[in-house]
Amino acid sequence: MFGWTEPAASVLQRGGSLTELWRVGPWVARMLSEWITDPPEIPEPPALRRGFLTRADVDAALVGHDDWRTEIRADLQMHTTYSDGSVPLPGMAEAAAALGYEYVGITDHSKGLPIANGMDEERLARQGEEVAALNQALRAAGGGPRVLHSIEMNLSPEGEGDMEPEALAHLDLVLGAFHSKLRLTEDQTDRYLAAIRNPTVHVLAHPRCRMFDRRAGLWADWERVFTAAANAGTAVEIDANPYRQDLDIDLLTVAREAGVRISIGTDAHSIGELRYMDFGLAAAILAGFPRDRILNFQPVEDVLAWTSEHRRRGASS
Ligand SMILES: [Zn+2]
Repeated sequence: MFGWTEPAASVLQRGGSLTELWRVGPWVARMLSEWITDPPEIPEPPALRRGFLTRADVDAALVGHDDWRTEIRADLQMHTTYSDGSVPLPGMAEAAAALGYEYVGITDHSKGLPIANGMDEERLARQGEEVAALNQALRAAGGGPRVLHSIEMNLSPEGEGDMEPEALAHLDLVLGAFHSKLRLTEDQTDRYLAAIRNPTVHVLAHPRCRMFDRRAGLWADWERVFTAAANAGTAVEIDANPYRQDLDIDLLTVAREAGVRISIGTDAHSIGELRYMDFGLAAAILAGFPRDRILNFQPVEDVLAWTSEHRRRGASS
């Protein structure tokens, strides 16, 4: 569904074989072509699979919006071997440079998520030194994206972070995300409002915490949550991983009306996953989200000015 670059019907139309498609062997190919020539009744997908864009939906949404692909300046969520990514920091930066980004957020996990090899304050500081050295080397070489030292900080269901505030104060950008008690069915508005009141969090990452075919995600009074985020100057994320697509178009429409800022991140754990950005762009386009409220289209200086302003407001409130 997310791995195909072309719809099955158009493969057949141009005389191709369905086995060209990702993970399609002869048996599945035969079944698919029978469905295409004699379409069966298609039941409504189960709730766990609703509200996700397919690759073909994404490509269709991007038609006529080439400027979104060429003018985007940043990818603001990715992981390296400092936590659970498969590629060391310089390799991820190099891959992001190849995609033409001006800056990238390196957002490894924090210590509250040991299953993802989350970093403690000491390892975060060591990463900061490597980021500084890498930025210096990239500048000296006359190119490459600026690497923002960032983090995906684990938030408790009470909206509390798991890192010392002094350690966070050195970072360019702090994402906060829930990773526990994600299957509750009761309204979770309070947990989101607490996270938004947390002055160290700049971006609420993968807000709903849903997962394709596995987890429905959390529920809240989204209008209230996004309005509170807009008032606090906190951004909410589009996690562009196809299995997350979090926020999706429906919630992005609510977010747009609330006036909140958006940050888009691929949540890439490997170089190939940096390509997920299209899913985030397509969702923003389909929700009619204005580009001037999407961090990824802003110059890096503006994003850094916003995070320091956010810190000042947090310190004085
Ligand atoms: Zn996460």
